[in-house]
Amino acid sequence: MPVEEVLAPLNSLLIAVSLLMGLLVGSFCNVCVGRWPHGESVVSPRSRCPKCMNAITWYDNIPLLSWLILGAKCRNCKASISWQYPLVEAITGVLFVIVYLRFGMTLASPVYMVLAAAMVVVTFQDLADWTIPDEVTLTGLPLALGLSALVLFLSGDTGLLVTHPFDALKGMALGFAVLYGLDRIAILILKKPGMGFGDVKLLAMLGGFIGWQGVLGTLMLASVLGSTVGLSVMLYFKLKGAPQSDGATSEETPAESDAAQPDDNEADTAREDDGISLDHRYLPFGPYLAIAGLAYALVGPQVLDWYLAGLGPVGY
Ligand SMILES: [Zn+2]
Repeated sequence: MPVEEVLAPLNSLLIAVSLLMGLLVGSFCNVCVGRWPHGESVVSPRSRCPKCMNAITWYDNIPLLSWLILGAKCRNCKASISWQYPLVEAITGVLFVIVYLRFGMTLASPVYMVLAAAMVVVTFQDLADWTIPDEVTLTGLPLALGLSALVLFLSGDTGLLVTHPFDALKGMALGFAVLYGLDRIAILILKKPGMGFGDVKLLAMLGGFIGWQGVLGTLMLASVLGSTVGLSVMLYFKLKGAPQSDGATSEETPAESDAAQPDDNEADTAREDDGISLDHRYLPFGPYLAIAGLAYALVGPQVLDWYLAGLGPVGY
């Protein structure tokens, strides 16, 4: 029997295992997004319904299924459960499968699965809370460095982008320097911070996993994504006729923005504060960095090769 025929069922099994692990890890990502912003432990206590405070039993806490079976409602008090929970689980599950299909039985698979889950947490926490968890970025920095050092002692293809501690450090340094520099320039020119320090730490951490080329690729893709979505949102509100402030420098927030926060009006330094009011002209940059960084880890070098190969003959 040819090797492929022997391995085919094993491959299907590993795809299923990847999906299952992704769903379970996604469930944990929900816990992180819900608790880290409040400084709570993600280990204990067990999950409770935020309304009736009843502990959620294991059979009501099965990724995707429980939400569907319970009809998006708490079994006890019938309070509705956000669609964000199954969404995070499904996204993480799909990402784990994509990582497995891309990297197979290499060290890169578990590493980029963890990175994918971390980016899911970053994306959803930044969207919901306007913060990027230090639990991800400050933990990721030494992990990336340790991993690149470990790879030195391994033989064979690991599938990893960064295979030397020096490359990890270069990626971190560039990731830090680029966004920190842009932030400084934004402060000088616009008289307000361009992005939060959480973004700086995030790109530095990503640099440790995807290298300095990855930092540049991530920044380019994130900017394209950010401006596309930003312009679409602006256009949407323009067409819809929502109130717009006159100039980009105005600090005024539209009156209809979410329940007035009892914070002071100094919005300058409030980027990472809980109290910043969300208005539709300003979206967090973290999700774009997270999505772009993960995309680079998955296909970045291949896309670059393909792009450069396409460009090649043009020069002659
Ligand atoms: Zn309840």
